[in-house]
Amino acid sequence: MPPLVEVKNVWKEYDDGQKKIVVLKDINFEMQRNEFVALVGPSGCGKSTLLRLLCGLDRPTQGEVLYQGAPIRVDNPKVTMVFQNFALMPWLDVLDNVSLGLEAQGYAKKDRHAKAADLIDIVGLAGFENAYPRELSGGMKQRVGLARALATDPILLCMDEPFSALDPLTTETLREEVLRLWGDPDLPPEAVCMVTHNVEEAVYMADRVIVFGTRPGRILADERIKLPRPRDRKSPEFYEESDRIYKLIT
Ligand code: ADP
Ligand code: MG
Repeated sequence: MPPLVEVKNVWKEYDDGQKKIVVLKDINFEMQRNEFVALVGPSGCGKSTLLRLLCGLDRPTQGEVLYQGAPIRVDNPKVTMVFQNFALMPWLDVLDNVSLGLEAQGYAKKDRHAKAADLIDIVGLAGFENAYPRELSGGMKQRVGLARALATDPILLCMDEPFSALDPLTTETLREEVLRLWGDPDLPPEAVCMVTHNVEEAVYMADRVIVFGTRPGRILADERIKLPRPRDRKSPEFYEESDRIYKLIT
């Protein structure tokens, strides 16, 4: 069986009309089923760009992104995305926001609403099906973003700094939710690729941390985090791992 994801010799360049900017330079890595991978690195190093390439939302200038051995397509419901700013539709209620991906899959309204209601329950928002995004706190909005991304039973969930707009307590709760979903064989997703600029968050959540450098964005290190789960953020081993990753960034 091919790896879940293969990123092969991927370059991304933008042309601002005057000069070419190399955003990603020769990126290579693989992801397996069940892996939780964190992408860390300074702002502007191309993490969001790479995540969009993984979901097929954008195309590499050179190289290829394969999902189960075939080029990733944007309409693949098994790879979905959670955005930093939630990206909810303000004119749709929670139920319809969560149903969006199912609508694109051609589900009948009754079926997609039933499925969305289950997901809304799973992310702890039961009772808010008919609320609009403006009526929700940031944490609740991101729960909607998560439910929407889970609605099509994705195998790979991509998350771009999903907690960075949330307060520390909400962040804490949502991290545990994501770990619970990832760890539950009966619930999606199987694999997670999460962008974060928070090293502790990466070490707390991920099996592997890929460290990016900037100008141009490139991989500096690809490190395994072998700490047993659930992880203890106060343990000396946790500090050691975090320190090790910090040193690779700086
Ligand atoms: P990160 O998520 O690591 O902060 P991004 O992937 O958002 O980085 O951006 C990496 C670089 O690519 C930045 O310098 C940004 O200005 C540039 N960039 C991103 N998208 C575009 C675009 N559509 N056109 C031109 N430049 C872009
Ligand atoms: Mg970004």
